[in-house]
Amino acid sequence: MRIVMKFGGSVLKDKESILNVAKTILEYYKENELVIVVSALKGVTDYLIKISEEAINGNEEIVKEKINDLKEKHLEIIKETIKNENIKKEIEIIIKELINELEKVLIGIIYLREITPRIKDYVLSFGERLSTPIIYGILKDIGLKVKYYTGGEAGIITDSNFGEAKPLMNVTKYQIREKILPLLDKKIIPIISGFIAINQEGMITTLGRGGSDYTATIIGSAIKADEVWIWTDVDGLMTADPKIVPYAKTLNELSFLEAIEMAVFGAKYMHPKALEPAMEEDIPVRIRNLFNQENPGTLITKEVKIVKEKIVKAVTSINDVALITVSGLGMIGTPGVAAKIFDILGKNNINILMISQSVSEANISFIIKRKDLEKAITAFETSIFRKDFIQNIETEEDISVIAVVGAGMKGTPGVAARVFNAVAKQGINVRMIAQGSSELNISFVVKEKDSEKAIQAIHKEFGLDKLL
Ligand code: ASP
Ligand code: MG
Repeated sequence: MRIVMKFGGSVLKDKESILNVAKTILEYYKENELVIVVSALKGVTDYLIKISEEAINGNEEIVKEKINDLKEKHLEIIKETIKNENIKKEIEIIIKELINELEKVLIGIIYLREITPRIKDYVLSFGERLSTPIIYGILKDIGLKVKYYTGGEAGIITDSNFGEAKPLMNVTKYQIREKILPLLDKKIIPIISGFIAINQEGMITTLGRGGSDYTATIIGSAIKADEVWIWTDVDGLMTADPKIVPYAKTLNELSFLEAIEMAVFGAKYMHPKALEPAMEEDIPVRIRNLFNQENPGTLITKEVKIVKEKIVKAVTSINDVALITVSGLGMIGTPGVAAKIFDILGKNNINILMISQSVSEANISFIIKRKDLEKAITAFETSIFRKDFIQNIETEEDISVIAVVGAGMKGTPGVAARVFNAVAKQGINVRMIAQGSSELNISFVVKEKDSEKAIQAIHKEFGLDKLL
């Protein structure tokens, strides 16, 4: 089989887990063609964000200290995992050079007291640029034929939307094929940095947080892999967050469409766009636990399996959201009002997660990320349009969106009634409801304090732990 294997930060945390990664690659490489995608070591991307904040605040001492910590962390792993002295030296030099480069960038930020999205991507790229050569070195040390590339070197070209760049798929696929296929022919294992790419001018971009999953499926779709495996530290996608429902179960199988509905919510184990390339080329995606390889994990495929008893498969939530309701009598019967509202949000780069308008047309409610709330309010307040149509803008921050997911809901009457009955029995008020016409997902909004109880009630109502 031709398999793209992605190893996330959760399995790149210390000597033991990293050696476990190497062992796993060694085990599978004999009978398969492998392409490896790696994330930054655990916590490093967040750490880089912290260091840049210190740099913006001009804290040169702290920045230097933290850069040194980062250097030590990576050198320590090399010392513990690579035996051959020459290889060890080779990788140490690479790491030291990268750390010097990072230091120069951060000194620049200290002087400017500012970071642009472009520079931020450049800073964040160091996480993967540091981890990839280490994995390369470890694999070389155990005798494998390997080569390593950054995302850009592997051929991933994106637009210039720094922080959340979009791959230009045609050129990307072509370049990846040109680069990677000859290596596979020569039985060389390519090791590729996840998360990062370059734009058409050759500047480093990132695909958004958790973007290594996306890298893996982009590569998988380019080289027509048989499967993409996402190695992590949990057994797979689950019927609910086990922190909320302790008896939640791992889902063995799921369709792409269902998994996408879940990823947008929980977003725990998957970049929201990561499934797109795999779905397009019909490449199964497996989520597997590196530390529990007995468990086959979750397999995501094109096939929508609807078993009668499995109407609902999972219930997930997002908390860091806000509800905005705009209302005004001027909105009634006026075509183009909704378009205008969404245009204002769109121009300000604010993503809308959920929308609802009642048939009276006197108000429109929508959900956005909480971090975008201030930006959204300002955008409305300052628009000329506001005076003519909108009388009132109300906001609520202490809310959660709950999503009930399952392909079996399509065309099954009474599912919504059961969902809302279960929630009502807990005395929980539902603030807003939306169901896509795909009927794969019912989403609704409750107060954040009620969110866990609502999830537990729905999990129980549909017996999600018993159906597998
Ligand atoms: N290192 C990046 C992040 O933490 C990308 C990834 O882990 O997939 O967001
Ligand atoms: Mg990560």
